[in-house]
Amino acid sequence: MLPLIAQVALDVPVPRLFDYVAPTLTSADVGRRVCVPFGRKEFIGVVLSLSRESAHPRDQLKTITAVLDDTPLLSAEILKLLRFCSDYYHYPLGATVLAALPTALRRAQTATLKTIDSWQLTTSGQTGGADLPQRAHAQRALFTLLQDGAAHTASELATASAGYRSTIKHWRELGWVTQLSQPAPLNAIPVNADIAPTLNAEQLQATNQISAALGKYQPFLLHGVTGSGKTEVYLHLVQAVLAQGGQVLILVPEINLTPQLTGVFRARFPAVEIATLNSGMADGERLHHWLAAVDGRARIVLGTRLAVFAPMPALALIIIDEEHDSSFYQQDGLRYAARDVAIMRAHQRSCPIVLGSATPALETWHNAQSGRYQRLSLTQRAIAAATLPQVRMIDQRTQKLTDGISPALATAIQRRLDTGQQSLIFINRRGYAPTLVCRACGWAAGCPRCSTRLVVHLRERQLRCHHCGYAERVPHACPDCGNLDISPSGLGTQRVEEGLQKQFPTARVLRIDRDSTRRKDSWPEMQQSIRRGEVDILVGTQLLAKGHDFPNLTLVGVVGADSALYSPDFRASERMFAQLMQVSGRAGRAQHPGEVLIQTEFVDHPLYLALQQHDYIGYARTLLNERRSAGFPPFIHQAVLRAEAPQLVEAIAFLNLAKAHAPVTSAVTVFDPTPATMARKANVERALLLVQSTNRRTLQQFLGMWMEDIYTLRASKLRWHLDVDPLEI
Ligand code: ADP
Ligand code: ZN
Ligand code: ZN
Repeated sequence: MLPLIAQVALDVPVPRLFDYVAPTLTSADVGRRVCVPFGRKEFIGVVLSLSRESAHPRDQLKTITAVLDDTPLLSAEILKLLRFCSDYYHYPLGATVLAALPTALRRAQTATLKTIDSWQLTTSGQTGGADLPQRAHAQRALFTLLQDGAAHTASELATASAGYRSTIKHWRELGWVTQLSQPAPLNAIPVNADIAPTLNAEQLQATNQISAALGKYQPFLLHGVTGSGKTEVYLHLVQAVLAQGGQVLILVPEINLTPQLTGVFRARFPAVEIATLNSGMADGERLHHWLAAVDGRARIVLGTRLAVFAPMPALALIIIDEEHDSSFYQQDGLRYAARDVAIMRAHQRSCPIVLGSATPALETWHNAQSGRYQRLSLTQRAIAAATLPQVRMIDQRTQKLTDGISPALATAIQRRLDTGQQSLIFINRRGYAPTLVCRACGWAAGCPRCSTRLVVHLRERQLRCHHCGYAERVPHACPDCGNLDISPSGLGTQRVEEGLQKQFPTARVLRIDRDSTRRKDSWPEMQQSIRRGEVDILVGTQLLAKGHDFPNLTLVGVVGADSALYSPDFRASERMFAQLMQVSGRAGRAQHPGEVLIQTEFVDHPLYLALQQHDYIGYARTLLNERRSAGFPPFIHQAVLRAEAPQLVEAIAFLNLAKAHAPVTSAVTVFDPTPATMARKANVERALLLVQSTNRRTLQQFLGMWMEDIYTLRASKLRWHLDVDPLEI
């Protein structure tokens, strides 16, 4: 019989698969990696199906050159999920499939679990060892260790006898020991086990409801105020799943949160292997953890958005912590929202999924209101003595600011210093100041490559672009008029840090932003030192807002937040409200009550009033009403076609051409192309075309037809991509 023909997924920007003759393959090989010739190169691909026929004449087909790995790495289940993603996001299937593999597997190397050798005494070793002469101390020590019959690793043997190597070699020749090779443990450093606290009534109720849904698809929104103990609910759920032999997938927003949360889970389940997956890991390390998820050895898989594609044979529960976080959106290549993909995965797998947040995304909240998701609430802080902080406004118009800090805020900081408590000043802008301006002629330092201002980084004496990485020295005079009186304008973390250090010379001030935490371990180290009480005042960006628990922190000051109130982005208020609620949630999480002071010029703004009342529900209602009447998501479904070219006119011309090819239907609105909010970025000019519909299915059908045409359009010197359910327009 003729060999089968494999349909192979390749990472190429063409929306189709490629046929190859597959002499040794059978239908059991779907999901396996293969090497194939493509053009003049070898590519790594994944077999998606096998058939007898091809649309191309058989003698024109090339043959698979190698089959990698012992078994398929991508299960039928994951391939189904990837097909869904490719369809829904209108991204080529081949590129989608390859994007789900860890980088190491996109190269032609065999996927093998890292192993570790160990040695075990045989029966003849047990008898032989008993006769070792008394004076052979080192050998006897080794024998004593091995006598328990368990396999021992090199490092264990070394503790008994430094020269264990030669002894073991000799004993193997005698047949006294056998050598075993086991998968290397994922978590090498031991932890101290902790003890589960008794759940409070609301936590118990949530845990019971979710556990009762194990084995079927059911999405839950766990809406719990900051400090209400959502993590404890997750831990109890994981306990329940582990008891049934299942695997749990936990998605977290930040690479920085993975070590912290991994620590929490390891302490609760010291005997369980936990795989961590995030883009900050070395390729080999990530591969090792990924394979442990694939072979089921890792019962818990904890990672950032990319972990949503990790194959898990016994997956029984998905948890998304801080589900509202924008880092669940992948912004290049396959542009997906990990939260939405996870919902689909739970649906296909028939397992429950828990979305946890104090400030759910409005889309999620809307789904909970309409009953598509079941809502579970934690309304109280978990630690009996802890209450939600008191939130007050400081009217900035009546106070003179010193480096952004009002006298009222300074007094509150001083009180914390006097009582040995910690303060956090939140300002969501890194650098010293957002711009450098000339007071004489109005010049402002702009990025030569982007349509944006350069940020002053005084410590490094640089002006930097936060969008493209461009940097130059701070000039001494205005390049336009020669005036020497040019000065930083506005506030950034460095400036606030410097100002606080001046006002409180003996206080220990620590700045936490992307600049100060760039080095790999610096943020975990900083967290430790905050916990040890080595810091009095923290100054930081939204990095600080996410999920941290610093028991001695009792004051949060918010500086320079007003600007977000007038952003053209319709999601700006939602994002700002969530951010401020989260950052407020850092205050008073243990025995001391917390206080939040917000400096603003708009003390009566509804956003601030809602914050003062800790009223997520009321503010969500307000925002959803606004969205409904303005026709914004979640009441409308959007997609954006984006084009990038050396000149804006080219990008616009392409989008006009694309618009001309749009299928005609009254159910989808196709807007005119417009320049992007930031029209120029890194010397590339950008434009976009928005399409929307009140019906998701209709929009999907439209996009399906439209994309087929768009792939055939000539687009020289131009890049384009489609963004479905875009986070920003
Ligand atoms: P969230 O993630 O909801 O903001 P955490 O899970 O960080 O809250 O919990 C806040 C604090 O409450 C933690 O210190 C946690 O150990 C503690 N905690 C949670 N549940 C309980 C409980 N049932 N009894 C006592 N303390 C609890
Ligand atoms: Zn000037
Ligand atoms: Zn730039």
